[in-house]
This record gives sequence, structure tokens and C-alpha cells, in this order.
Amino acid sequence: MALAKDNNKDNANNTLELPRALSVRELAETLGVGPVEVIKELMRRGIMANINQVIDYDVASAVAAELGFEARPQPIAQQASSVISEIKRQQQSIGEAATLRSRPPVVTIMGHVDHGKTRLLDAIRKAKVMDSEAGGITQHIGAYQVKVGQQKITFLDTPGHEAFTAMRARGARVTDITVLVVAADDGVMPQTLEAIDHARAAGVPIIVAVNKIDKVGSNPDHVKQQLADAGLLCEEWGGDTICVHTSATEGKGIDELLENILLVAEMEELKADPTLLARGVVIEARLDKSRGPMATVLVHDGCLRLEDNIAAGVTYGRIKAMFDNTGRRMRKANPSTPVAVLGLHDIPGVGDPVAAFNSEHEARSFAQRRQSEFEKESRAVSLSSVYDQIKEGEIKELGIVLKVDVQGSLDPIRSSLEKLSTDKVRVNIIRTGTGNVTESDVMLAVASKGLVIAFNTGISAGAQKLADAEKIDIRLYRIIYEMIEDVEKALKGLLAPQVVEVVEGQCEVRAVFPSGKKNRVAGVYVTEGSVTRDAQARVKRDGKVVAQTSVAGLKRFKDDTKSVPAGYECGVDLKDFNDFIVGDIIELFRKQKVK
Ligand code: GDP
Repeated sequence: MALAKDNNKDNANNTLELPRALSVRELAETLGVGPVEVIKELMRRGIMANINQVIDYDVASAVAAELGFEARPQPIAQQASSVISEIKRQQQSIGEAATLRSRPPVVTIMGHVDHGKTRLLDAIRKAKVMDSEAGGITQHIGAYQVKVGQQKITFLDTPGHEAFTAMRARGARVTDITVLVVAADDGVMPQTLEAIDHARAAGVPIIVAVNKIDKVGSNPDHVKQQLADAGLLCEEWGGDTICVHTSATEGKGIDELLENILLVAEMEELKADPTLLARGVVIEARLDKSRGPMATVLVHDGCLRLEDNIAAGVTYGRIKAMFDNTGRRMRKANPSTPVAVLGLHDIPGVGDPVAAFNSEHEARSFAQRRQSEFEKESRAVSLSSVYDQIKEGEIKELGIVLKVDVQGSLDPIRSSLEKLSTDKVRVNIIRTGTGNVTESDVMLAVASKGLVIAFNTGISAGAQKLADAEKIDIRLYRIIYEMIEDVEKALKGLLAPQVVEVVEGQCEVRAVFPSGKKNRVAGVYVTEGSVTRDAQARVKRDGKVVAQTSVAGLKRFKDDTKSVPAGYECGVDLKDFNDFIVGDIIELFRKQKVK
């Protein structure tokens, strides 16, 4: 195996070389740990792998780092032979794992609003949903399966990249293939481009459905030209993107679309082992008034069975009943099958990993461990923490969503940022665009554990809120040089700590008293937080800042005091400021360095 220093954990510097791809079993052998250890690490990263699954270098090295090893890429010469032996080994192991089977692809539909995503999903469902002859009323469980000949395809029911990216943000890899819907009469629009970025960032292949071809004025060729400009060259023009003409309203092109999905799925070689205990992900969850918590689980691998003990995120339970989207009761669900399950103690989160266990005890302890890992997982990258995370092996890539004011400044900024890549960490521009930073930009940064850089643009209110909630770093710059310098310093660990303001409290001036010969003191009522003696202060009048200084003295009745909380009155003396007017608002804050 590709070990630099034999399989020896006692080596002083635990370094090892890893090939471009290797199976879970081989990684475990290389690291000298049990395969279960590796599988657990992968699950923590949202990757549901079985022992024979092949993982790439980035994933393998991250797992190795977690287990205390520092990985390096194996030299190319060695790789050539190892890739061949890799394939052989994999064939062998597939041979060994005679239980490995193809699994249906899981498809998400994305595209601009009103281009026909919902209509297309309906058309596919109507044309193909299994068991429609049973007269079952279709239920919304978040996904459905269709049968094409002997094969199946699973469609996620929530179209659009928001759901897709929200799921990724939680570490779940759900989608195998994206169908990008573009209306032939409207062409490529902003959300089309966003969807392309999101699919690319996730490494998911794209099939284009040029929809509404029945409409007068539809111009598929124009759409294809626009797609080519966006980097998706259609097959008929010599590229490798499959484009299908559809009319969702007339049901045209649906069969062709489904056939092409199966074609791409075949190339992706999607495999799973239905003999294993199930692993999957929650794609929808709610409280059913009469039946309790209900969650739709999309099975990735293994087979989910009635009465299985499962953990879903931080909750667990035993499956009391399972349904498919036609409401039919199921006893088991094979890989890529969506099923609504009853029996969990609580409602899990969308995107939570699901795993079946042999005992309730194991399921419960998985859920508990998951709870304690929650914080660690949600750790996002900020420019000031990049270096630490590189050092700790947590990141090998700095993902940046880049927004600029005008198209013209995009390319130079992009290339100068990309040039900052070092041998330890690659700068990866995951999305570029003009205009304000939007919620979608922030979501993409969350999903890619990256950050947002805005050059000469603003931030929409929703985006800032989301960024705060998700702890995403949005950096604003007006000067290219400063931006480049900051990123460069961050990568080298030299970035000075960022100083942030922490608001401590607010008070309102109710009276003004003379104090000594020249000085004046404000009699205030503390409305929020507290006032402390050494805090910084900002005096606001009619919403405008009239002075910025610090608290020089604080008195409660006649006595000096250190701090006065909300709901009390006190006397505030500000340094170098006397011109109080009744009604002024004094905002108290503190500057804090964040590392
Ligand atoms: P979504 O926002 O992408 O989900 O778009 P919808 O599926 O809601 O479709 C938006 C509108 O376009 C609806 O009025 C649909 O009836 C119409 N529409 C969708 N697909 C087609 C199509 O293939 N041909 C025509 N003529 N109209 C369509």
C-alpha cells in the first residue's frame, strides 16, 4: 500500500502518502485502524460510504488528519501503477462484495423561477409514478420514484437550488444528477447561473432541459448559446452537456429526459449494498398530529427495514411504520428509495444523517454523539481563522464567493485571488457575480464552508442576517490591493485580528446637570443592556451620530459605580463631550479583537 513510512502509527511524524483514490478498506488498512473508524469519520462529514467505496484524496487526507496522520499526495509516477492496481483491487473487492448493486440516481430539478420546474416534476410524476394503477393518492413526502423500463429514478420534490444547498450546508450529499430547467422563451437568467454554480460546487453532473419549446417565440439555440457562455457546451455543439427539449405542459421530451438521466447515472456507476444496515439522510420532517414525528428518509446505502433501530441526527427510535409517496405501507426500503418513517422520538432536521443499528442502545448512543459533535461540525471558515484551520488540517481549500460592482473588475480580481493558492491550501472561487451579496451567496458559502468577499458592493439585509446566523464571514473591500493582501496574510497566518464592536447597552438622556465649572453630566435612563464605566460611547441625536468618545464617570445617586443595568437611572459623564440634549441616545460599546 502507499505508505511513506510503513504502516506504523508510532512514527514520530505520522506522515503518509495517499493515492488519488482508494477504497475505505484500504484507507483503514493504511492508517492501521478499523474500517468502522473510517466510516464513522466519513459519516461525520456527511459521506455515507461502505467499506468498498472508493474515496478521493481530499476526503481520504481529511479523514487521515482527523485520525492523527498528515497525508501527502503520492508522486504521480507511483500513482500510475497504483491507480491500475487500485482498479484491480476495486474490481476484486466488488467481486468480493457480490452484494454490491446499482442503485437508482437521485435527481434534483433546478432553474430560474417560472421556467417550469414544478410543472416538469408534475409531468414526470403523472407519466411515470409507480403504482398509479393502484389508485393510490399521491402524498407529499419530499421525493418520489418513477420507473423507466426496469430501472428507477428518484426525484426530490423541492425544486430549486435553495433546498439543494441547504441540504449540502448540513453536510448531506443527496443529489446524484441535476436537471437544469431553462425556459426556451426566456433564456438563461440569474437563478439559472446560480443553479449552475451550486451544482458545480457540489460536483454534480448537469442535464439541461430546454423547456417550453411549445411556446411561440421559443428559441432553443439562443438558450444553448447562453449556456455555452456560462460554460455548459451542449453535446451537439461538441461539448459534453446533454440538452433535452421538453414541454412540461404537453408532456413532450419527458421520456427522452428520463432516458438521459439513466444514461448519466450509468456513467456515474452509482452502487450500493442492500445487504447492509441502512444509511441515509432526512429530506423532510414534520410532526403528524395523530401519528407523531414523521421523517422522510432517503436511503443511500443498505436497506431500511420495519422495526429497525435508527438514529436520525440527534434523535432516534424504532421504525413503527414506513410509507412511500403513494401512501403504500412498506416493509423495506432499498438504496435511493425515499420513505416516510414513523417511530422517531423527535423531529430530526432536514439534512440530518440517518443510520440503522442492531440495537436501540447503539442508535441512542449515535444520536448522543452526534449531539456533542454538532458544534464542531458547524464551524465555518472566517478569514481570520483560516490559518488555524489549515494548520489543524481542517481545510485544504479556501472557498470564496466573490461579488463585485462591475463585470469588468471580475476577472482581474479572480485571477489575483487564485494566484494566492499555496501548496497547503488552494483558493477556490466557487461563485462570482455582480451586485449585492444575496442570501443565496451566503448559503453557497455555508454549503462550501467558505466565505464571501464583496468588492465595492453592499450586502442585502437578508444576507447579513443569514450570515450572522450561520457565522459566515462577509468581507467588504474598496481597494483591490487591501483585499489581496488580507487573503494572502490570512493564508500565511499573519492577518491581524479583526476588531469587532460589541454593543453593551443603550440609554436615553432625561436631564442634563452641570458638574464643576465647565463640565456637564447626563442624567440617563438605561433602556438596554448596561452602562459600564470604561465603555466606549456614541451619542446619537435623531438617528445621527453627533459624538464618539468614552465613559469618563458613572454615578448612581451621589456614588461612583462601575456598572448600571437596564431599568435604572444614573449619571453619565462622557470624555470631551458636554453638549447633551434631553432625548439624546447614548450607545455603549466595546471593541473586541476576534482571532
Ligand atoms: P417554476 O417556478 O420553475 O416551478 O415554474 P412552474 O412549473 O410553476 O411554471 C411556471 C409557469 O410556466 C406556469 O404557468 C406553467 O404552466 C408554465 N409552464 C411550465 N412549463 C411549460 C411548458 O413547457 N410550456 C408552456 N407553454 N408553459 C409552461
